[in-house]
Amino acid sequence: MKTHQKHLIQKKGIKIIENRVKAFVGENGQMEKVVFENGESVTVKGGFVLPRPSQTSDFAKDLGCESNSLGGISTDSYGRTNIKGVYAAGDASIVAPAQLIIAAAEGLQAAVGVNRDLIETEFL
Ligand SMILES: Cc1cc2nc3c(=O)[nH]c(=O)nc-3n(C[C@H](O)[C@H](O)[C@H](O)COP(=O)(O)OP(=O)(O)OC[C@H]3O[C@@H](n4cnc5c(N)ncnc54)[C@H](O)[C@@H]3O)c2cc1C
Repeated sequence: MKTHQKHLIQKKGIKIIENRVKAFVGENGQMEKVVFENGESVTVKGGFVLPRPSQTSDFAKDLGCESNSLGGISTDSYGRTNIKGVYAAGDASIVAPAQLIIAAAEGLQAAVGVNRDLIETEFL
């Protein structure tokens, strides 16, 4: 966190703790405590985390699909990857912002891409 950001937050009376978090402790899905690596802890009623999304499956890489700068599968606007016949949409092709409406829209676009490619395929 930059110094000016720290000052802005502290001016609001918010305490900044920069110790590394060891564990979030709670019960029944309710966070109760944050435990730090130095052994200290703070009691809390809730919290926000900043997730760093990443692809959990390697199959696209194994197929030879190129990645985009966000770590998702690189596609054109119709979900086509660099591998013929392989399409991607949603969180597989983007990792931020991950939103249902974007995934649904990309799914539709990929379906249009599949349809277009099949129509153009010559069956011998
Ligand atoms: C905690 C959390 C909160 C969120 N809140 C919101 C919100 O409030 N509003 C919003 O719009 N979006 C929200 N999102 C994002 C939203 O859920 C995703 O953007 C959306 O679900 C992406 O849809 P998708 O179909 O691309 O992927 P998914 O919904 O992840 O579907 C992928 C499917 O593929 C399956 N799969 C994965 N690997 C394999 C494999 N190797 N073989 C077979 N199947 C496989 C998975 O099991 C899953 O069913 C949230 C996400 C998270 C994690």
